[in-house]
Amino acid sequence: MIEIEGLVHRYGDTAAVDGVTLSLADGEYVVLAGPNGSGKSTLVRHLNALLEPDEGEVRVDGVPAHEDPVAARTAVGMTFQDPRDGFVAATVRADVTFGPENLGLPRDEIERRADAALAAVNLDGRGDERIDALSGGERTRVAVAGALAMEPDHLVLDEPFAGLDWPARRELLARLDDLVAGGTGVLVVTHDLRDHLERADRVVVLRDGRVALDAPPERARDRL
Ligand code: ADP
Ligand code: ADP
Repeated sequence: MIEIEGLVHRYGDTAAVDGVTLSLADGEYVVLAGPNGSGKSTLVRHLNALLEPDEGEVRVDGVPAHEDPVAARTAVGMTFQDPRDGFVAATVRADVTFGPENLGLPRDEIERRADAALAAVNLDGRGDERIDALSGGERTRVAVAGALAMEPDHLVLDEPFAGLDWPARRELLARLDDLVAGGTGVLVVTHDLRDHLERADRVVVLRDGRVALDAPPERARDRL
């Protein structure tokens, strides 16, 4: 369970997130939309304690994220808007095993997690390939696998569909459906709601750093 309460984040004098209260239940599929600059990326960076609140707080399973960043990062896996920024290794499998290695897990557990994560994004058998030789959609899936290998309760994906064609989007959407069915909470940041209205439990729209809408997709559709 993620609870965001009265969250304010300022860059200088400007509040990019301006008093957001929102909760994300385990196993829930939530879409976070809103125009460019509405504060989406800033908000999600608080969910695993990459930023500190100026006011308010984010609690992950009851614990303030800024008080226990390691717990927050264990519970909340994140991929970033431009997956080129997020890779730490040259090959697919090395990138996916990096996180579990840093947790100090035993080797067989690391390999088990990497196998499961790569299978979940349909990259099984491709661990030895170089990331820089992959397509945009495949790179996004590597980033998702890296987050999954941490076995988070929640997966936060910042614009995972940017630059993906429809077959690649459909593929990733199917994977997200599988994850939600398996009990993982999913928060997808997007400025394009088209693919999500049928599958999301809730649509949250930010505008100028505030929640302009928090509703089931049927009601969000009426407002679009
Ligand atoms: P941009 O100008 O960056 O494309 P938009 O203002 O069109 O941003 O909004 C981005 C997304 O958020 C779109 O999918 C839009 O439909 C949705 N959206 C924006 N405001 C609302 C609102 N008040 N209620 C529901 N959806 C909204
Ligand atoms: P979104 O993800 O919805 O596009 P962001 O969270 O990236 O929104 O940005 C929200 C606002 O904060 C924008 O006005 C943006 O210009 C500003 N902003 C984002 N990051 C920084 C930063 N590192 N320093 C100063 N301003 C920033």
